[in-house]
Amino acid sequence: MSRSTPTVAVVGTGAVGAMALWHLAERGIRATGFDAFAPGHDRGGYGGQSRIFRMAYREGAEYVPLLQRSLELWRTLERETGTALLTTTGGLTIAPTGHPDLEMVRRCAAEFDLPHEDLGPADAADRFPHLPVEDGEEALLDHTAGVLRPERAVIAAAGRARSLGAQMHRYCPVSRIEPSAGGVRLTTPRGQETFDRVILAPGPWAREVEGLADLPLEIHQITTMWYQPRHPERFLPDRSPIVIRSGPIAYSTFPAVDGETVKVSLHSLPRPHVPSADHVSRNASPELLAGLHEAVTRFLPDLHPDPIRTGAYADCFTTDGHAIVGELPSLPGVTVLTGFSGHGFKMSPVLGEIAADLALTGATVHDVTHLTPARFLP
Ligand SMILES: Cc1cc2nc3c(=O)[nH]c(=O)nc-3n(C[C@H](O)[C@H](O)[C@H](O)COP(=O)(O)OP(=O)(O)OC[C@H]3O[C@@H](n4cnc5c(N)ncnc54)[C@H](O)[C@@H]3O)c2cc1C
Repeated sequence: MSRSTPTVAVVGTGAVGAMALWHLAERGIRATGFDAFAPGHDRGGYGGQSRIFRMAYREGAEYVPLLQRSLELWRTLERETGTALLTTTGGLTIAPTGHPDLEMVRRCAAEFDLPHEDLGPADAADRFPHLPVEDGEEALLDHTAGVLRPERAVIAAAGRARSLGAQMHRYCPVSRIEPSAGGVRLTTPRGQETFDRVILAPGPWAREVEGLADLPLEIHQITTMWYQPRHPERFLPDRSPIVIRSGPIAYSTFPAVDGETVKVSLHSLPRPHVPSADHVSRNASPELLAGLHEAVTRFLPDLHPDPIRTGAYADCFTTDGHAIVGELPSLPGVTVLTGFSGHGFKMSPVLGEIAADLALTGATVHDVTHLTPARFLP
């Protein structure tokens, strides 16, 4: 390795940071990861067994190229590590006719020629009788959608980075990030260390980072529940797609990746604010329990309506629901990736690639203009 190879630190090796570490290591960069815990831990934005991958994207067509590249990179990481990470199951977006989410997923499918099917209530009842589509609703089945295994993926990316020469400091929180003559200085329990560049991906701890104080970031708790199906075989990933239902009662459901339980996440109630992921509580509010009960009894009659397991996690949200990717005047030399607003996991491989591009060259071939920090800066 040449002496002129830059040194790059990755602060936070969760979903995005572990992928950044992998991409840096692939390029022969002297990369060092720091995490307050260890890759694969249960406290970050990526906890809870499963994450949805989908490409017909209700959040906006500008994401589709990023998701197409992510799909390639998910398969690359699977190949390089011999680990199954993404199971393609198909994904149903169900919404009242004319709902903007349905319009957007149809637009993505048409503009990018994504493999999909439009389903009305009768077609859906034939295909997926356990996932009813009501009269007045329609569905789009995105054939590229599926289920990701998040803890396994973060461990795989960080492990691959280490096998390519990256260093990883586990249980090593970074308490200060500041410019110094030789680059960017980090303070940790190990002491102080200076790197040419830093990639910062702190997830639901972002509000604790001094240099991010001016950004409109909020940390929200997301509580998910697992249910026992009456017929678990109907929910197995080879016959049951992920579901995102929009409308007055909105939620997502996952196939039984463990062969046994179905995870449901309610979207139609406000999510509580917390200062950081250290403050989440597994005690679900009566409103959340009532909302889930209504959703499950009405739309998922094949599940026993009382949850058998609770998972409480948090993610960092921005006020417009889109992430922040780039450098900030308050943190020179630092590429910031934060505010993934409840939908960052599926694109973490391309975000890691973009992080490495920006940290090393200041530019990327991927179009991330919609994620520019400039939209929040004075
Ligand atoms: C319940 C739930 C369900 C979700 N479902 C989906 C889904 O289905 N599909 C999808 O695409 N997205 C989903 N998301 C969103 C997605 O999981 C997050 O957007 C993504 O994990 C955020 O990645 P991140 O790297 O920003 O943060 P994280 O993955 O949380 O990683 C941050 C890391 O930084 C470390 N860290 C923080 N501060 C420091 C510090 N000072 N020093 C050292 N280390 C530090 C933490 O320990 C952590 O490991 C969901 C989120 C939640 C909470």
